[in-house]
Amino acid sequence: MEYNFFEQFAGADLDRLSECLKAIRAAGLKTDKYTQAGVNNSSGNVWVWSEDWQGAIACSIGFNVFWVYSCRDCGEEFEFDTYPALEEFAENNQDDCTMCRTEEVTA
Ligand SMILES: [Zn+2]
Repeated sequence: MEYNFFEQFAGADLDRLSECLKAIRAAGLKTDKYTQAGVNNSSGNVWVWSEDWQGAIACSIGFNVFWVYSCRDCGEEFEFDTYPALEEFAENNQDDCTMCRTEEVTA
C-alpha cells in the first residue's frame, strides 16, 4: 500500500511519532522496512510496531509514552513504562495471559 507519510502524520501526531521513535532508540531497538506506524482512530494514540519486537510503543493524546503488549490469544493489551518490563511480561505470557489463562499456574 503506497501512501504519503505526511498524509498520515500531521501536526501534533508528528510530535507523538517523534516521542515513539525516541523511546525506540532509548530501548536499543531498531526500525527496519517491516516496521509499521499509525494513528489509532479511536484512542488517538500514535503507535510504532515491528515484528521483531515483543510489543509496540505508543504515545497518547496527552503525550504519555508507553509500551503495549497484546496477548496473541485474546488480544488483551497490557501497558508498560519500559521495554524490558514488557519483554519480561511477554516471556511469561507467550501463549496466553493473565486475562485469558484458564489453568491456574501454581508455583
Ligand atoms: Zn490473553
